[in-house]
Amino acid sequence: MPSSETRDTSPQRIVVVGGGVAGLVAARELSLGGAAVTLIEAGEQLGGRVASAPLHGHAVDVGAEAFATRGGEVQRLITELGLAQRVVPPAPRGSWVYAEGVARPLPKGGALGIPASPMSAESRRVLGFGAALRAALEPLRRRATPTNDETTVAALVTERLGARVLERLVRPIALGVYSTDPTELRIAQVPGLREAFDRSGSLVGAARELRAASSAAGGAVAALEGGMTPLVAALEADLLGRGCEIVRGTQVVALVPPFDTEPSWQVHDAEGSCLASADAVVIAAPELAARELLGGLLGGSRDAAPVPSDIEVIALAVHDERLDAAPRGTGVLVAPGDPRVAAKALTHATAKWPDRAAVRGPGEHVLRLSYGRTGSAPETAALADADAFALALRDASLLLGIELAPESLADAVRQPWSVSPPPGARPEPQTPATVALAGDWVHGTGLASVVAGARGAANDLLGRLAPLHTTDPSSTPQQESTVRPA
Ligand SMILES: Cc1cc2nc3c(=O)[nH]c(=O)nc-3n(C[C@H](O)[C@H](O)[C@H](O)COP(=O)(O)OP(=O)(O)OC[C@H]3O[C@@H](n4cnc5c(N)ncnc54)[C@H](O)[C@@H]3O)c2cc1C
Repeated sequence: MPSSETRDTSPQRIVVVGGGVAGLVAARELSLGGAAVTLIEAGEQLGGRVASAPLHGHAVDVGAEAFATRGGEVQRLITELGLAQRVVPPAPRGSWVYAEGVARPLPKGGALGIPASPMSAESRRVLGFGAALRAALEPLRRRATPTNDETTVAALVTERLGARVLERLVRPIALGVYSTDPTELRIAQVPGLREAFDRSGSLVGAARELRAASSAAGGAVAALEGGMTPLVAALEADLLGRGCEIVRGTQVVALVPPFDTEPSWQVHDAEGSCLASADAVVIAAPELAARELLGGLLGGSRDAAPVPSDIEVIALAVHDERLDAAPRGTGVLVAPGDPRVAAKALTHATAKWPDRAAVRGPGEHVLRLSYGRTGSAPETAALADADAFALALRDASLLLGIELAPESLADAVRQPWSVSPPPGARPEPQTPATVALAGDWVHGTGLASVVAGARGAANDLLGRLAPLHTTDPSSTPQQESTVRPA
């Protein structure tokens, strides 16, 4: 029987909302798949939480400063963009942890602070002999209760390894990396942890497994020479080269689904103007904004969003030759509860990344401190710049064990951020078949998860669109609004 369908050969028109790494990568993937892409970004800059600011003559990262090599997706993207020669590893100096008034080297080879060798000299120094021995015997203990979606990192670590491992190692790292307390962080939210634990039946075994996987990938993290923003510039150039349209400084406030007389998505700004019509939309905005757009579509989905945490990054350019010796390796993670220090982490950027030291004058160093833990505003939030920078310098002195004089401060910069907890603890909202979601609140915190997730989401969307991309006189456009189960 002859079909009434005719194949529509015009490219799919797809709008991507949000120009962070998730949006940029999704836009590139869609474009590679043949779609005509328009990317709309609320801010004037692309990159979202991959951002830099000038500090005493050179750019410093004030958001993401590295990528996890796990999975190889970021490295693959970097290679495709022609940046492979610019990948740099961190200096092999190790980092430190500050707990109960003492800074000690962080045991090497662990994952999320879970020690892979609890009886190593470093682990014993941080934990004390008794707590280290208890952790070392953990692989021999049978697992008491199976994990489930609700199992928190705090509960599992305390049960398996003891409270000291939680307080001195896992809590500072969870707060530093995820801005989430381990009592709120589910093991399913830490990439690979639940699977590795279920496989090996032990947390120490899981830490060894995760560490081995990152060593096989050439080390746990890497960066680009000069910082992570060249990745954003390369993605932008790549998109423009492919003919994608990029609109900046324009916030999308509403998405109107296709209906009888208008068979396309209508993308609106705050003035109610239609910015673009599209066959499909990728929402790559952070969770609150994304749920607001989806709430407009499906009703009520904004309420499911957890309250994001506010954090602040302060970067200092400091002249002090005593810092040349990298007294605390690549930096210090801070266990909460010490009234003398407000920062939750310090990165000694010029000790961690030799290329950043090479461009600075002798004795000049970049120290990056972060503030703000779950449920409380950053200690710096209400402070004027001068007071915030003075606090950061005092914290740096304490954490590095070197009294840094106020006159050693050559320049300083601050950047507030709002971050959602990683996914896994709340249901992903339902979306129509012609809408895809991308971003760290859907695919996991960090560039490794974001890049892999955005690529996957874009390709899934193209796959769903292919059968719809026909002109069938008997079909009605309302089919576009079909709700896809999460
Ligand atoms: C201080 C800090 C340090 C970090 N360090 C690291 C690190 O070292 N390594 C690592 O891998 N990860 C790190 N991360 C996490 C990493 O930066 C994020 O997981 C990742 O960049 C998130 O990308 P995204 O595209 O999902 O979101 P975003 O980068 O937030 O991008 C979302 C974009 O959407 C735009 N937008 C929002 N609403 C709208 C709207 N209505 N219309 C149009 N546009 C809109 C925003 O302006 C933004 O540009 C860090 C994060 C922070 C805050």
